[in-house]
Amino acid sequence: LEALRKVYKPGTPLEQEVLHGIDMHLCRGELCALVGPSGSGKSTLLNLIGLLDAPTAGELYLLGRPTRGLQDAARTRLRNEAIGFVFQFHHLIPAFSVLDNVLMPLMIRQGRPAAEHVERARGLLAEVGLEGFAARKASELSGGQQQRVAIARALVTHPALLLADEPTGNLDSRTADAVFELFRRFNARFGCAVLVVTHDPRLAAGCQRQIELVDGRLITYKA
Ligand code: ATP
Ligand code: MG
Repeated sequence: LEALRKVYKPGTPLEQEVLHGIDMHLCRGELCALVGPSGSGKSTLLNLIGLLDAPTAGELYLLGRPTRGLQDAARTRLRNEAIGFVFQFHHLIPAFSVLDNVLMPLMIRQGRPAAEHVERARGLLAEVGLEGFAARKASELSGGQQQRVAIARALVTHPALLLADEPTGNLDSRTADAVFELFRRFNARFGCAVLVVTHDPRLAAGCQRQIELVDGRLITYKA
């Protein structure tokens, strides 16, 4: 990220500059925690890095490539291929089965999933502790269980970068530990870089690096 700025509602009375020029480098395969008070711009930053929203100024390089000039189709392709998301709210499709929710990113990419992909999805469900829930409707799971489905869904494409926005906010501390353990395992096994927003200092301390956003500026870089 080079001098990345985000202004919401520019040119209106509600104009608000949320990110004031962020310089940051996330290495391939790095596990990094993003902390900071509510309203400091963490979700905004994740949305920019995840190509869900465009910065007002500055440049974002993904896998070494500048992203500002990308056409919509190329942006979408890069997003689908390289990035997994776990949102602050899980956004599952309630009427679909747990397994189909996990397979959704692969189905969007290529239609009917291959047998190996179904295997992969089932393996991920087992890793998040939801073996045996594959055929259930997503709406019939608890909030914490749904969040774990969302985590399996984010990893099913083996993304180069996983962006997770408070993925453990609704989980008890044991399940939260298990989720972070899953991130570490993926990070080690596939070299998947992880940028995770968390309010839990204990979980943040277990990451390789912590960065802190306060009022739209990165103020600390702890090794
Ligand atoms: P939290 O920890 O509560 O999730 P956050 O650090 O993720 O907070 P953001 O959601 O990035 O904070 O919001 C940062 C600021 O930007 C807030 O003041 C918010 O009101 C504003 N904001 C966020 N999204 C939008 C939007 N779509 N349009 C206008 N303003 C927005
Ligand atoms: Mg947020």
